[in-house]
Amino acid sequence: MRSMQLYPLFADLSGRPVLVVGGGDVAARKASMLLRAGATVTVGAPVLGPELRELVQQGRVAYRDGAYQPGWQDGTWLVVAATRSRPLNSRIAADGHARQRLVNVVDDPALSSFQVPAVIDRSPLLVAISSSGVAPVLARRLRERIESLIDPALGSLLQLAQRYRARIRARYADLGTRRRFYDWLHDGPVNASLRASQPLHAEQQLVAALARHDESKPQGSVALVGAGPGDPGLLTLHALRALNEADVILHDELISPQVLDLARRDAVQIAVGKRGGGTHTPQETIHALLLEHAQAGRRVVRLKGGDPFVFGRGGEELAFLREHGIACEVVPGITAALACAAYSGVPLTHRDHAQSVRLVTAHCQQSLDTLDWADLARERQTLAVYMGVAKLEEITRQLVAHGRSASTPFALVENGSLPTQRTLVGTLGELPALATRHAVRAPALLILGEVAAQAESSHWYGELLGAVAAKAPALANAA
Ligand code: SAH
Repeated sequence: MRSMQLYPLFADLSGRPVLVVGGGDVAARKASMLLRAGATVTVGAPVLGPELRELVQQGRVAYRDGAYQPGWQDGTWLVVAATRSRPLNSRIAADGHARQRLVNVVDDPALSSFQVPAVIDRSPLLVAISSSGVAPVLARRLRERIESLIDPALGSLLQLAQRYRARIRARYADLGTRRRFYDWLHDGPVNASLRASQPLHAEQQLVAALARHDESKPQGSVALVGAGPGDPGLLTLHALRALNEADVILHDELISPQVLDLARRDAVQIAVGKRGGGTHTPQETIHALLLEHAQAGRRVVRLKGGDPFVFGRGGEELAFLREHGIACEVVPGITAALACAAYSGVPLTHRDHAQSVRLVTAHCQQSLDTLDWADLARERQTLAVYMGVAKLEEITRQLVAHGRSASTPFALVENGSLPTQRTLVGTLGELPALATRHAVRAPALLILGEVAAQAESSHWYGELLGAVAAKAPALANAA
């Protein structure tokens, strides 16, 4: 049998006396954690820091004033030594061990008979991590990772399930159907409502399901998720969780492989949207696919580049799914304008030069004539033009014809936030020619306005094109 260095245990301390020795902020942190678990905490120290003083004044913690005495340990279940003196901590530990107390000396596994793990708290669910004192930094990093993977709403779901446990057991006496019901609880509309901060609605859905006489049919859900512009680091925690939980992922062609790599390994991935030759999966087909998978009880993620509600038809999909009674959530993403601006060093607004930002698409149902060019050509605003690469000539012509100066700076960002990012800078008058010369291709975002001038000096990611070449130091020749 392999040995364990430590025996993991979760202690019920509610109402049980615990001693913390030390008056500083470490002792205060330990005391607060113990209070959260309902322990009756006594702190002993000659002086108390502000945090502990406050807890004592509020009557939440009892205080033993003065130098440590072994008698403080009488009647306690646990002892925590959090003083700055190692000899003192070591005496406290020795006294505790002699009395068979469990003793923790903060940051000193050698002196401790119990250690406090790194904790992810979704009470009643607790995840505790220990490296047996060998690698506390690793334990902390793991905690951060797991923290981001467990939905914050999970605690409320478990509390709800706890309250209805007897009724669920009575309604589904058979273990198999009960398991299926709990799966439904986690994956279906009840959890979706909790995530959407609608606890009453969640409870009503649970009650309704318990009252139904047929076996509750599994019900799927759809999350419309913004994947950001390509750099997986720009996903939100919610997006990452949704990708981890998905059974089916319907994604646009633009989604980067690095992002898809983060999805659950056995999730079915379906590419919709623009195909190689430029033909689109018709929107009705996408609607039908979403509906089909959700109605079959699957957790569906509709993954879209950038933000689902910015030139992404997310609104149409949400309305369609709601009409069909499908539980939905929307996870915003970083839209191309924000990402391309950040990754090319261009602030979209500026106190002196740009008081507003316009998100504009050059992909119009009929023609570009439907845009209000006089309005778009105004100064002191920033245009962020999506889907414009094929129309640069016309965009330039219209803007100049409507009064925007040909010397207005632009930054055209291709593959923003990806390792292949290229940022082309120049002035409006030379935009079409420069873009042709450097063969800029979609996806690219055009930022036009006074602010774009800053790219030349503040650009920090990928390649910069079109700028007056700075004198680069000579590189050593490859041998
Ligand atoms: N919903 C998306 C936009 C979809 S329209 C969003 O919020 O970003 C597609 C257009 O977005 C592309 O033609 C391009 O103009 C822009 N775009 C998307 N990703 C981009 C990227 N990584 N770099 C530059 N432009 C991008």
